[in-house]
Amino acid sequence: MKRTSRDIRTANRYEVLRQIIAESPTSRQELAAATGLSLATVATLVGELLDLRMITEVGFEDSAGGRPRGLVAVNASGGALIGVDIAETYVHVELFDLALNVLARAEEDVRPGESRPEQVVGHVAAALGSVVAQAGIEGARVLGVGVSVPGQVDRATGISEYAPNWDWHDVPLLDLLTEHIAYPLYLDNPLRACAVAELWFGAARGRGNAVVVNLGTGVGAGLVLGGALHRGVSNSAGEWGHTTIVLDGRLCHCGNHGCVETYVGAPGIMLNLRELSPRSTLLHPEDQTATIDALSRGVLAQDPVALKVVRDTARYLGAGIADLVNLFNPEVVVLSSWVAATLGEPLVAEVREAVARHALPRPMAATEIVLSPIPTDPVCLGAATFALEGALQSVGPRNGKRTTPARSRTAPPS
Ligand SMILES: [Zn+2]
Repeated sequence: MKRTSRDIRTANRYEVLRQIIAESPTSRQELAAATGLSLATVATLVGELLDLRMITEVGFEDSAGGRPRGLVAVNASGGALIGVDIAETYVHVELFDLALNVLARAEEDVRPGESRPEQVVGHVAAALGSVVAQAGIEGARVLGVGVSVPGQVDRATGISEYAPNWDWHDVPLLDLLTEHIAYPLYLDNPLRACAVAELWFGAARGRGNAVVVNLGTGVGAGLVLGGALHRGVSNSAGEWGHTTIVLDGRLCHCGNHGCVETYVGAPGIMLNLRELSPRSTLLHPEDQTATIDALSRGVLAQDPVALKVVRDTARYLGAGIADLVNLFNPEVVVLSSWVAATLGEPLVAEVREAVARHALPRPMAATEIVLSPIPTDPVCLGAATFALEGALQSVGPRNGKRTTPARSRTAPPS
């Protein structure tokens, strides 16, 4: 794809706004130093963001002997962003101000068998209506909605190309959502969303190379390489959950055998438990959340079956994460999503030991393995940043006309 001058301007504007959100208040000089852009370019971009009322002037700071420097800060009330985390067992929706503080949240359970696209869209529309009502904001202030859906996603067309856990193939998800939702919509997947959330606000902040391991029903790895999100040529990078860890192993939804996901995703962990202790009271058939919760309580109570299941799961994770450490030489590996959050430090401690047994010493010595420190749903946060990026794309240059959003209610011209 050719990068146009407009793409570059949007990227620069986004980078400047990202810095201001991360570090408010700040000066144009500090922004130039942090982004590597010239002071003149930063001044122009700051002017545009002031015109858009996304940032405000907040006074001056003394600069040793020189002219006082004007300070700018994000204008938190200058707009609202919505992040949607569609997972196999729930839909979370959070509404943020422009400083990315959560103003409202809603959750819908997705029960087994409720995975038809229209059912999922119904949950999203209900939760979205709830957060807008709770926050008591005018719809016009919502700049956009970022939607994360598991599996392979075509961002340009808004199509969920393949979601193995639901057997979705080429579902026109954005078109279906557009029938219920009037705001500009931006689609991507949880690997991308988690990685951006860690890069902006979490364990990857200020770090150039990070791997965010997403442990939920499905699993995958969000990749931050050279300070930026790595998407690959067709937005499919990081499908680590469907790499082979056991030759001729368990059958995976994707059709292959022995994928990482079949041993460390929530259904895989349930199978680890069932194989160890078929009649365990920790096992809640058909209920992933209840089983993982029970395992977590079991570990805290030193239940030998729970301890063994977590250790076995960590052995697979350790081998798989060691591959990521050897391949990408990251500064940090972040364990994210609900399974990691529920099993917590006891899982991480086992994983650290297991990774150390498999990874090469040199990359291992440079890597920290941590739980995501983000207190809310990182996928909603990351998805909201996609909406912010989209909103910046949809406005023209300073004093120019507003242009059509990249993706809005009406289909873009082809
Ligand atoms: Zn697979």
